[in-house]
Formats: sequence, structure tokens, C-alpha cells
Amino acid sequence: MVRVKRNSGHVVGDAVRVQGDLLTRGVRNTELRRRDARGGLHLVAANLDVLGIVIAPHAPDGFIDRAIVAARAAGLRPFIVVNKCDLPGSEELVAAVERTYAASVPVFPLSALTREGLAALKAFLAEGRRGAFVGTTGVGKSSLLNALCPQIDLKTAEVSGYKGMGRHTTTVSTLHVLPEGGELVDTPGFRDFGLVEISPEELAAHFPGFEKTRELTCRFRNCRHCSEPGCAVVELVECGEIAPERYETYIVLLAEVEADEEERKRKGWRKS
Ligand code: GDP
Ligand code: ZN
Repeated sequence: MVRVKRNSGHVVGDAVRVQGDLLTRGVRNTELRRRDARGGLHLVAANLDVLGIVIAPHAPDGFIDRAIVAARAAGLRPFIVVNKCDLPGSEELVAAVERTYAASVPVFPLSALTREGLAALKAFLAEGRRGAFVGTTGVGKSSLLNALCPQIDLKTAEVSGYKGMGRHTTTVSTLHVLPEGGELVDTPGFRDFGLVEISPEELAAHFPGFEKTRELTCRFRNCRHCSEPGCAVVELVECGEIAPERYETYIVLLAEVEADEEERKRKGWRKS
């Protein structure tokens, strides 16, 4: 048995080699990170291939675009889970999500509760994929993990809401092998997920709906596709190849990314 210290720098998903009591870590293919409220960066998991972005009716807006960009920038393939499809009104949400994102990423409408639609997601993960779920609190990430890997029995909101029990607050992430293939990492404490150290160039390169612009070149090499002349992205918006709504969202996120860049410079946060 080899003991691994908490601060050893190893995270869930790391490949390690054991020689005697010496542990060496393999090179990481991907790193999923988050920033805490004080600006510190935390590695959440290593070597994931896919990231499931979970939403549900009445979940906050804007989460999907941020999560897709962040996942792609980290080298993970994003997919969307629309959970709670047993609830009335979910058809509209599924239709809207498919209209906007189906050309960019796989979309799985399902219900963790009734298990409807779960088979398609299982089949996707079973193709040897290793992933994790992100989403705002209450969209059903724990319920989904429970539905996919029956052996894990994570506490969900209902259970933890029981008088005086408090919320289950473990911070240990675990890798679960799914019965039908694939692996899932549960990442407690990783509830909200923002654009960690994304540059404006990365935002444009990974923004869902901008895939067509990859082959194009703007007049300026460092074009932010905002108000620069000769911008190929703006041309695609003008000729209807990119929906105006997509472009407006991009501009909102660009402002966010630029503000974050400024903030990082101001506080002198190191890029690491
Ligand atoms: P988390 O915070 O994302 O981990 O969400 P939980 O898994 O704790 O679920 C939050 C609440 O949504 C709980 O009351 C669940 O029972 C409920 N829930 C989860 N999945 C579904 C679903 O597919 N349908 C319905 N109707 N409720 C669900
Ligand atoms: Zn441009």
C-alpha cells in the first residue's frame, strides 16, 4: 500500500506508477480547473475526455456557453444533458437547446428520476469515455450519477434536506467505473464552473456556433470580432450564417473575459 498525501499534487484521474513506496505521476492529457472566490486555482480532475453540462428547467441562463468554452479550452469534449424531462414544459427547453447547440455538441434529453433517455447517455459513455458533470446546484448531477452508477449512492438534495442532517460535504472526488463501460468522476464542491483563464482568442475559437469561422481569417490577426474592420465573424453574422442571438451572447462573454483579464493583471494572479 502506498499512502498519498493530500497535498501531493495528485488528483482524481491521474495515472501513477508505483515503485516501492515511490509514486510517480504520469503526464496529464487534460486538466480541469476552477477558481475559488479568492482567486486561487484548483485542479479538479485530470485526464478526462468529456464534460457533461447538466441543465434542467429553470436553471440559470448563460451557463452552457461558458461551460462549453471552458471544456474545449481544457481539451475536453463537451456534451449537454437536459435533465428533468419528466417535468411539464421541458419540451420547450429541449427544443431550444437542440436548436442552438445540436450542431456543436451532443445533446441528451433525459430524466434521472424516470430513467427515460438514460440509455443513450450510457451508450455514449460506454464508448470508453471518462467524464464528469458540471451544472448549477439542483439540476440533478448527484441524481444522475446515482442513476448511472447504482453502487455509489450519493446524497441528493432531498436526503440532505432532512432535519438537522446538513448537506453532505465531502471534498473527495472518486472515479467510478460504469457497469456498461466508461468512467465518471464525481466532483463534490465543483458546483459552479466559470471561464478560468480564458483568453479572448480561446473564447472565439471555442464558442458554440462559431465553428464555421475556424477556416476564415479576419483582417487583423488579433481580431476580437467586436468592432474591427474586415472581421470575418461579423460578415457571417451579416449574411445570416451565424444567428444574431449567438453573436450577442459572444459579445457578453467577451466583455466578461476581458474584465477577468484586467482583474488578473491588476491582482497579479499568476498564470499557472
Ligand atoms: P445537484 O445539486 O445537481 O447534485 O442536484 P440533486 O441530484 O441533488 O437534485 C436536486 C433535486 O432535483 C432533488 O430534489 C432531486 O430529487 C431532483 N431531481 C433530480 N433529477 C430529477 C429528474 O430527472 N426529474 C425530477 N422531476 N426531479 C429530479
Ligand atoms: Zn474578427
